Amino acid sequence: MFTANAYSATSANEPLAPATVQRREVGPHDVHIEIKYCGICHSDIHHVRSEWGPVDYPVAPGHEIAGIVTQVGEKVTKFAVGDKAGVGCLVDSCRECANCRAGREQFCVQGGGTLTFGSVDKDGNPTQGGYTTDIVVDENYTLKLPDTLPLEQAAPLLCAGITTYSPLRKWGAGEGKKVAVIGLGGLGHMAVKLAHAMGAEVTVLSQSLKKREDGLRLGAHHYRATSDPATFTELAGSFDLIINTVSAKLDLDTYLPLLTVDGAMVNVGAPAEPLSLSVFSLIMGNRSYAGSLIGSIAETQEMLDFCGTYGIGAEVEVVPADKINEAYERVLASDIRYRFVIDIDTMR
Ligand code: NAP
Ligand code: ZN
Ligand code: ZN
Repeated sequence: MFTANAYSATSANEPLAPATVQRREVGPHDVHIEIKYCGICHSDIHHVRSEWGPVDYPVAPGHEIAGIVTQVGEKVTKFAVGDKAGVGCLVDSCRECANCRAGREQFCVQGGGTLTFGSVDKDGNPTQGGYTTDIVVDENYTLKLPDTLPLEQAAPLLCAGITTYSPLRKWGAGEGKKVAVIGLGGLGHMAVKLAHAMGAEVTVLSQSLKKREDGLRLGAHHYRATSDPATFTELAGSFDLIINTVSAKLDLDTYLPLLTVDGAMVNVGAPAEPLSLSVFSLIMGNRSYAGSLIGSIAETQEMLDFCGTYGIGAEVEVVPADKINEAYERVLASDIRYRFVIDIDTMR
């Protein structure tokens, strides 16, 4: 074992503070990554504040990890020292269940796989995330980052990128499809860039018009405020696909009528509170309401390659480690354009 510097939460109510975590020595199939940047996902905040359920503290969150490989195990074939490497939400899974064998590790029947933080690793130790200087991960759960993207812009692809890419692909975003994105935050701004690159006609549905210019620059064709009731009357029946990225409770019956007949609304936002809907919002138009969880390792690599080809990175504000708590408050106030990324060198 060796020690890595970290920022950890010690309870649901305390700010994150400097700490250390223990990392395993590099095994035959492992890569040691010196972390350079880690994105701040809203899920980090939900988790460390115990909004989704009980948490084993202390926990260092972070699952948008980008760094450089500094050591590889003797059986590693995909990575070499000096390579750029990324780690997302999963660091392992059982590899034997039907879902793992089908390449859908995020649905591993053994607890949904081993999450990057907040899980118990195969050695019995709690996993610790990317708000740390170093991580050791099996090469099969490590991603290759595009050479064309700066590491800080690539880091958020590991969660915000794949979480929006996966439903956009599954529900066929592309030429001739009208896609709406609710919420222009970390996930939302990636959804706009990706849907635009796939060829869809993209509309942002944001609480206000404050970020309109940005939204259009990122690739949206239209930008409407959900605070304006005319948005809902004028756009009724117009979207093939709506991606809801909102981290808070939303009135679904207001949004579902925006779908075309057979249209689908996909929730990636994960508020702690239950959402409810009237079934008539679905029945009156054969509409679907679905959820989507990150993406598999293979699909994450596909998304990273797509982003490399199209030059798609996240819009980031890089912050030093001692500004993490301030960044959390700003995320909660929707005051971020569009992803905070921690400069991990400030933790060394
Ligand atoms: P974020 O950067 O905070 O973005 C959320 C956006 O939602 C905000 O920018 C804001 O957009 C809008 N919003 C916030 N509060 C709102 C409210 N009360 N009413 C209406 N709109 C509101 O968060 P994120 O990192 O993108 O994450 C978004 C959600 O996705 C979180 O719940 C996170 O846990 C979840 N998530 C899920 C997965 C998955 O696998 N399904 C993966 C990652 C994250 P505007 O200012 O434009 O209105
Ligand atoms: Zn995330
Ligand atoms: Zn499994």
